Amino acid sequence: MIPGPFSYHRPQTLADAVKLLSTLGDEARPLAGGHSLVPMMKLRLAAPAHLVDLHGIDGLKGVSRDGNRIVIGAMTTQHELLASGEIANSLPILHETALQIADPQVRYRGTIGGNVANGDPGNDMPALMMTLGASYQLQGQGGTRDVPASDFYQGAYFTALEPGEILTSVSIPVPAAGHGFAYQKLKRKVGDYATAAAAVMLTMADGKVATCAIGLTNLHETPLLAADAARCVIGTSLDAATLKKAATAAEAIMSPAADARGPIEYRKHVGGIMVMRALQRAASRAS
Ligand code: FAD
Repeated sequence: MIPGPFSYHRPQTLADAVKLLSTLGDEARPLAGGHSLVPMMKLRLAAPAHLVDLHGIDGLKGVSRDGNRIVIGAMTTQHELLASGEIANSLPILHETALQIADPQVRYRGTIGGNVANGDPGNDMPALMMTLGASYQLQGQGGTRDVPASDFYQGAYFTALEPGEILTSVSIPVPAAGHGFAYQKLKRKVGDYATAAAAVMLTMADGKVATCAIGLTNLHETPLLAADAARCVIGTSLDAATLKKAATAAEAIMSPAADARGPIEYRKHVGGIMVMRALQRAASRAS
């Protein structure tokens, strides 16, 4: 339970942080809230020789509106997301999801940037970001690039981040007025990661689903977009047969690990139920 030795760096500017990470190479890791990285170091599952703490850098925090997008600085904590009026009004599903992450102590330290950059299939924000059509801004020595969340996740703990790059912000299109939303998560106890979770964003017209996106958490080595499941609810009033069809289509792309949260078949079954419940709850909130 004691991490290996490491050097601690606290740069004051983004340019210095990028330079440090690029110079130190594979041996260095950015440190945000530390609530995923430090436990991994204590378990010796990660042993970086250098930690580059991002807390000294101005401008990596906060929620702002940029036209029809909401931009969130990478170092914004889950707690700060929950306190944001802009998030509560424009992106209530993000508020709902943040509230289901861990417990208040973790949410005071854990950041949105750390949650989406970590690459852990159990993190709740990545599938939500894919469902919302978000993109991530990455800063490296060669400049800045934007990567859609749906292209970012390549495998468990493998992402599109290149060595030396820092994720600086998350940009999310403002959802349509009157949209319905739900983040449905089954966990064994307060503070646990999802056994299975589903994010749903939809719009309704004349009692029928007009648009829909469905994301899945902890049901594969990466977060998933359940595109077929979303397609099969379009034009329906979400009757029982359609809900079942959507659950079956979503289960077809799930391949969760068997772990302490249950065997594979159980977790897929629960995943299907999360999809059905999220669809129903989202539809009940749409206007
Ligand atoms: P860190 O731990 O500092 O970093 C995580 C990884 O991302 C590291 O590899 C780091 O190098 C990298 N990184 C961090 N920031 C950046 C950046 N800006 N650019 C590039 N790379 C970066 N999470 C959930 O989603 N759902 C849960 O239910 C949940 N339950 C938890 C329960 C407990 C008891 C604990 C301790 C944690 C739990 N977490 C959960 C994880 C928590 O939300 C983490 O805080 C979060 O996943 C990582 O954010 P962080 O800011 O702590 O990142």
